[in-house]
Amino acid sequence: MSLVEYSAHELKQLLVSGEITSIELTQALLDQIGTYDDHLGAFLHIDAERALARAADIDHRRQAGKPLGPLAGLPVAVKDVLCDQDGPTTCASRMLQSFRPPYDATVVARLKAADAVLIGRTNMDEFAMGGSTENSAFQVTRNPWDPGRIPGGSSGGAATCVAARMAPLSIGTDTGGSIRQPAGLCGVVGMKPTYGRVSRYGLIAFASSLDQVGPLARTTRDAALLLETIAGHDPHDATSLEVPVPAYSHSLEQPLAGLRLGIVREHFAAGLDPSIEEAIRQAVEVYQSLGATIQEISLPHSKYAVATYYVIAPSEASSNLARYDGVHYGHRTDESQLQAELNARRQQLQAAGDERGLDQLDNGLVRMYRLSRAEGFGPEVKRRIMLGTYALSAGYYDAYYLKALKVRRLIRQDFDAAFGQVDLIASPVTPSVAYRLGEMVDDPLAMYLVDLYTVSANLAGLPSISLPCGFTREWLPIGLQLQAPPLEELRLLRGAHMYEQATDWHKRQPALVRQRHTGV
Ligand code: GLN
Repeated sequence: MSLVEYSAHELKQLLVSGEITSIELTQALLDQIGTYDDHLGAFLHIDAERALARAADIDHRRQAGKPLGPLAGLPVAVKDVLCDQDGPTTCASRMLQSFRPPYDATVVARLKAADAVLIGRTNMDEFAMGGSTENSAFQVTRNPWDPGRIPGGSSGGAATCVAARMAPLSIGTDTGGSIRQPAGLCGVVGMKPTYGRVSRYGLIAFASSLDQVGPLARTTRDAALLLETIAGHDPHDATSLEVPVPAYSHSLEQPLAGLRLGIVREHFAAGLDPSIEEAIRQAVEVYQSLGATIQEISLPHSKYAVATYYVIAPSEASSNLARYDGVHYGHRTDESQLQAELNARRQQLQAAGDERGLDQLDNGLVRMYRLSRAEGFGPEVKRRIMLGTYALSAGYYDAYYLKALKVRRLIRQDFDAAFGQVDLIASPVTPSVAYRLGEMVDDPLAMYLVDLYTVSANLAGLPSISLPCGFTREWLPIGLQLQAPPLEELRLLRGAHMYEQATDWHKRQPALVRQRHTGV
């Protein structure tokens, strides 16, 4: 078996016992990236030299018997939205194309302190806005199960690199489903922790009341290992919770005796792909066979979740993205051209004797802001800024933003009531499997609707996980979503682990990758 095929947990054992070195492992993954990534496009940036140097350093320290961190020598890929002072952080946007962070995000700092090898930066939808990774300003990422299809998004690179065995572990972010949805569509495990569980310091903000950082991996145990490394209180993030972090990866085996699993009446409605419904119902039967009792529950306000999310998220985005004006932050338009255009326009107006026009002529600063933003942001980001600015503007604030906040509260109350009856809630991750590249780019509304099962966990601040639970006849992965009450990550991971132990969906490899190793 090639090194790239092992889980992080297995690799950790091989590294600790000295059977392999981090250099060998890092090189094997860089080779895998070299073989597949020109085609799949998961990575925006690879610094092979730095990764190998780091691996060599960890190997030396291990050989010298020095103490090492919990991820020592394990390669981890990071979504290009978390600041890392050792390289670029672009958010897949022209706006930040030349940004070099002066500090590390807390998550990145914790990975470094845990002696992980940061192997590369993964592609995403620009500023994490989207569900297909097609909104990246730089490249398309392809789904390893069918390279003609999207990998999901916005953490599409993060899911693709794990599914294609280019990294055993990766970090994503989830504002409305961006970890769980690509994990589901690429057949890997992805988890959004409770809001506040993982520090957002150094995460480039999309929607601050919804954003969370979380792990993607091929098994629940690996996701647990990565989560326990990055989670925990951080004084730099005022929303970070001051509660202890359990040793998730050591407590997975404890069975969830007497598990009460809820399924949501409203989730099995028109629009859900029958093969997904079938896979979810079978997953529920697996739980039943493991001793869980199944209870139908209702989340009556879930039908408003997408509408609520698409008011709140763009509103916060429009505010967060106001800082990119070419002066404080971000791309600045070519000023010589700007001055030339301004002078030409002034001359025109003078020649025409247009006093009013001259009065109204943009001063250079406003024009510079406008052009910098017009050039720096892509179409989806502009759409969100316009939606959000509208929803927050005088006269509309009460009707949209304030109303959305009230509905958000009702959605949270639905979950509070449901968790009075059940321990975990099971649902699909998406209503449809990965669609073809380009299929939805002209229909943003249809794309927004794909988020109907994932956005509620963000609106309510709950932890939620996506697990492989089957395939369509065309071998496209299907994801099972589990949700738990706030801060019950351990319950969620144990529930997920239980299912994983009873099934082998997570062991399947995309044909593209499998053929190379086994020839079949
Ligand atoms: N697809 C959702 C959106 O476009 C979620 C994005 C995310 O979680 N970052 O807003």
